[in-house]
Amino acid sequence: MENRWNDAACPDIGDDLALRVYTSRLLGADKTLVLHGGGNTSVKRTETNLLGDAEEILYVKGSGWDLETIEAAGFSPVRMEPLRRLAKLPALSDPEMVNELATRMTRATAPAPSVEAILHAILPYPFVDHTHADAFIAISNTTDGEARIRECYGDRVVIVPYVMPGFDLARLAAQRFAAEAGPRTIGMALCNHGLFSFGGSARESYERMIELVGDAERYLARHHAWDVPLPASPTEVPPKAEPATASALEQATLRQAISQAAGFPMLLMRRDDARARAFAQCPDVAELAGRGPATPDHVIRTKRVPMIGRDVADYVEAYRAYFARHEPQAKERKTMLDPAPRVVLDPALGLLAAGRSAKDATIVGEIYEHTIDVILRATALGGYRALPERDLFDVEYWDLEQAKLRKAGKPAPFAGEIALVTGAASGIGAACVAALLARGAAVVGLDRDPAIEALHRRPDYLGIACDVTDIAGLRGALARAAAAYGGVDMLVCNAGIFPGGRRIADLADGEWRNVLSVNLDANLALLREAHPLLKRAPRNGRVVIVGSKNVPAPGPGAAAYSASKAALTQLARVAALEWGDDGIRVNTVHPNAVFDTGIWTDAVLGERARHYGLSADEYKRNNVLHVEITSRDVAELVAEMCGPRFAKTTGAQVPIDGGNDRVI
Ligand code: ZN
Repeated sequence: MENRWNDAACPDIGDDLALRVYTSRLLGADKTLVLHGGGNTSVKRTETNLLGDAEEILYVKGSGWDLETIEAAGFSPVRMEPLRRLAKLPALSDPEMVNELATRMTRATAPAPSVEAILHAILPYPFVDHTHADAFIAISNTTDGEARIRECYGDRVVIVPYVMPGFDLARLAAQRFAAEAGPRTIGMALCNHGLFSFGGSARESYERMIELVGDAERYLARHHAWDVPLPASPTEVPPKAEPATASALEQATLRQAISQAAGFPMLLMRRDDARARAFAQCPDVAELAGRGPATPDHVIRTKRVPMIGRDVADYVEAYRAYFARHEPQAKERKTMLDPAPRVVLDPALGLLAAGRSAKDATIVGEIYEHTIDVILRATALGGYRALPERDLFDVEYWDLEQAKLRKAGKPAPFAGEIALVTGAASGIGAACVAALLARGAAVVGLDRDPAIEALHRRPDYLGIACDVTDIAGLRGALARAAAAYGGVDMLVCNAGIFPGGRRIADLADGEWRNVLSVNLDANLALLREAHPLLKRAPRNGRVVIVGSKNVPAPGPGAAAYSASKAALTQLARVAALEWGDDGIRVNTVHPNAVFDTGIWTDAVLGERARHYGLSADEYKRNNVLHVEITSRDVAELVAEMCGPRFAKTTGAQVPIDGGNDRVI
C-alpha cells in the first residue's frame, strides 16, 4: 500500500479544506481503496456566520463527486450541532435523514451530503477518511471475518457488524465507538463494507488509512492470500491479438439478447483482462461468483451475481425468482428493476460489462475486476462469504438508490447504442461523430488520418486509423468496435474523395478507378461486412449514406466523383430493399456546397466559383434559400435519420443544399 503523501505537493497547512481535498484525492487515486464515487471523507471546522456566530461545520463529501477528482465545492457544509443531536434519536427514516442533512447546510447550492454524514459527525476527530479497500474486504468477506479483522488489527480498530449504510449504521457505530474506543484506536472496521480512519490532521488520518490497509495486505500475504494464482484453465487462453470476427458476432448476439431482456439497448463492453478471462474459465467460477458481490453498494451497478456463460433467459428467470423471494418482505411494494445481467463471465469472451453508457459499463467492469481479486484472496484465506441475499436485496432496492435512478431522468435518445462513422477525422464525418455522441451513442470513428485516434478522449469514443479500401483493415475495425461496445447499430458511410476538376477527355483510368474504389467499392465492402452486426442491433440497424448533389445534378469536370456517388446511391437503394426484412433502414443524404470540409480547398472553391462567374462568398450561398450549409447541418440531419423521426423511412434520398434549382 503506497503512501502518496508528498510534502512538496500538499497545500498550505493552515487551509483545512484544501488539505481535505488533497488527501481525498490521494485516496481516490488508488483504485484498490475506492472505486468510482465509493468512499467518502470529511473535515470539521469552526466558521463564523453572517450574524457573527461561531458554528462548527462538517464538510463531508457530496453525492455525485468522486474522491479522485473532488474539489472544495464537492464538500457539503453541514452544521454539526443538529447532526450530533440527530445521532441520538432512536430512529430516523432514510427520507427524513436526507431531508435533515439537506436543510442543515450552510450553502444552498452545495451537493446533497453523503448518507454517511452522521457517521462522520459522531467521530470526535477533525479529519475522517472512509474507503472500501479491497484488502480489507477480502479479510472481512470470509467465514470467520470478524475474528480475522481482530487478529489483523488488535485494539487499533472498533469493529462494527454489518448494517446497511444510513442512520442505523451511524447510530450503531456511535454506540460501539463510545463503548470500545481506547487510546490506541485509530480506525473503525465496518464488516463487509470498509474502513474508517481518523486523526487530528489530514495527514494523520490519511496515513492511518494507509497503515490499516497496508496491515490488511500484509495479513493476506502472511496467509498466502495476496498473490493468488488462478487454477490452470481447461481452455487455452487465446493470444492477445485483434479480436476475431467470429467472437465479434458472438458478442453482438449476446448484447442483443441482454438488451432485449433489459427492455432497452445496452452497450456490452469486453474487458481486455487476462486474469478476468482466466477466472471466467475456472471450473468453479459459477459457485464462486454466485456467492455475491464484494460490498453491498456494488449490487446497484453489478447486480447480485454475474451471468456465467450466455443463457440470458436462464439469468432472467433466476433474477425474477430472487425478486419474488424478497419482495413480500420489503417495507413497501417495489417495482422490479430490469432483470438483465450487468456482468458476464464467459469462458471464450472473458469478462464483459453491460451498461447504458460507456462510462457505466466501464465502471461495472472495473468493479468486477476488483471483485475477482477479493473473491480469490478470501477463498485463499479459507472461504469467500458475501452478505446474505436479503441484505443485498435491501441495498439494490434501497429507496435512496431508486430515487437516484429516478432523478437521472430520461436517457439520451441513442443511449446504449453504437454508431460507426467513416471519414470521421474532419468535416462532415467529424461533425457526425459529435452529433451522435451528443445524442448518447458510443461512436467509433474511422479515418486513414491517424489523428482520428485522438479526436475525442472519452470512454464512449473509439478512433481507429484505417483505410476503408483495405478490407482486412475494415474487418479488424468492425471487430474492434464490437469488442469495445458490443456491436454496430448505426453506420454512417461518409468517407469519400473529390479529386478536383478534370474533363473526361483528360480523365486517366487510374484516377477513375481510385475514386470509385474509395467512394463506391469500399462502401460495398463496409455494408457487406457490417450487415451481420446491423442485423443484431437491439433497436434495428440504420445506415446513412453521404451522397452528393452531383447525383441528381452532376457538374462538368466531376465525372468520376459524380458517377461514384450515383452508383453508391443506387447501392444504398438496393440495400434498403434487401435489408427491410432485417429491420435495417438505409437512407441517403445529398449535401451540396458544404465548404468546411477537407474536400473544399481554397483552390477548388475558387475554381468552382469562377466556373459560375461568382465570388467565393456568392458561390457558398448560391442556392434557393441563400444559406450557407455547414458540416454540422449535415451531421444533424444524418443523426436525425438514425432516430425515431425516420423510423418508418427507408430508401429515401434527402437533399441538404439550401434548395438547388437543378434538383427541385
Ligand atoms: Zn461506505
